[in-house]
Amino acid sequence: MRRTKIVATIGPACDAPGVLRDVISAGVDVARLNASHGTLDDLVRRLAAVRFEAAAAGRIVGVLLDLPGPKLRVGDMADGVVLEEGAAFVLGVGECMGDESRACVTYSGLAADVEPGDRIVLDDGAIELVVEGTGGDDVVTRVVRGGALSSHKGVNVPGVCLALDGVTERDLELLNWGLDAGVDLVAQSFVRSAADVNRLRAAMGDRTVPIIAKIEKHEALVELDAIIAAADAVMVARGDLAVETSPEAVPPAQRHIVAACRDAGKPVIVATQMLESMVSSPRPTRAEASDVATAVFEGADAVMLSEETAIGAFPAQAVATMDRVCRSAEDSGEPDIDAHPGAGAASPVAAAAVDLARDTGSIAIVTTTQSGATARAVARLRPPQPIVGLASVEAVARALALVWGVVPALGEAPTTIEQATTEALEIVRALALARAGERIVLTAGTASGVAGSSDLVRVLTV
Ligand code: PEP
Repeated sequence: MRRTKIVATIGPACDAPGVLRDVISAGVDVARLNASHGTLDDLVRRLAAVRFEAAAAGRIVGVLLDLPGPKLRVGDMADGVVLEEGAAFVLGVGECMGDESRACVTYSGLAADVEPGDRIVLDDGAIELVVEGTGGDDVVTRVVRGGALSSHKGVNVPGVCLALDGVTERDLELLNWGLDAGVDLVAQSFVRSAADVNRLRAAMGDRTVPIIAKIEKHEALVELDAIIAAADAVMVARGDLAVETSPEAVPPAQRHIVAACRDAGKPVIVATQMLESMVSSPRPTRAEASDVATAVFEGADAVMLSEETAIGAFPAQAVATMDRVCRSAEDSGEPDIDAHPGAGAASPVAAAAVDLARDTGSIAIVTTTQSGATARAVARLRPPQPIVGLASVEAVARALALVWGVVPALGEAPTTIEQATTEALEIVRALALARAGERIVLTAGTASGVAGSSDLVRVLTV
């Protein structure tokens, strides 16, 4: 059984008949809808398609809505614009048809935020500009590295703190749609501080779902611990992080972020270009296989596919490849990091369950869980046994699909210990995790139906 989870971005490549079915049955745990691309109709259609295929496959698959966040982009550009090295280039504000000398962005504060000598990169770092000065709202630059520039390409200003609003109107509209439509998890892009996460959570009102903070800004690395504490999970968004810092800064940042999340007991996803060559090839490169395995060795909860499944020619093969690489890495031994993080922060019930499972030779740990917290606390300790996250709320079960080693399952909220016991025994039989005579460990709350109340650990014989 694979313990590391697979997040796959669902895009146009999954729209053809039968493709999404193959993608999901190849092993997707969480389907990501990237709201930065396509229309609302696309999101609506793909969400329905994921729900349909997951039900058809009898699988619990979480749906993650990835909000665009405050990403700066150039506006419309004339066809065939190529910026030449050494040329002057102006970034203005508002709406204009961009050309070789000028493009417009929607953010009016850029000229106030930058200083002469600052770098501005366009199109994921393909084009580089250096600021020479400002004039009114205009930023006057010189092209350091030229290239073709087409409409709506991204603008990053590495190392500069932009005074942009962390949660945009578009984010709020999409969030509202997603919560109404019943997505299970929301990812927040370009998070810079815990305050950004808190703002998004406040906007959810009482319709809360877990927030995944995407770490892709240099400011977020500085504020990492506070962001991890504020968020429910974290994504190492290596694409923009490399543009905001440098490609060589990403591997140590990834290692640090994964370790910090493990320490805090928050699920962490490693994302972007994991099997990039599979966008156009049925086989990965050796380096890509190694990259996925490294995330597994570091102890990530999940690894993510982006373009590979969203626009690639081999989406189901990419998922199947990721599945095989994860299994192979897991089979090769324990993750590199200590399986028992700082005692003070760990849940005593989870620690007792893991110790008891080891000492009694139990072959599964079943956590009856209201909010998912006990299942996550057990997963944090990385026990060798499967962890069944037996939730009574469908959205909680689907969100647990992201968590390392947790087999999400749905049951009734038990009102007595006897009911929890019966349900645990039934679910391990139904999932074919245990045979008659084998032992399992159950965690439950004697204050039934109350989130965070797990206070009982019991060994059961099937
Ligand atoms: C990234 O930048 O690595 C990322 C995951 O974000 P997006 O795919 O939204 O650019």
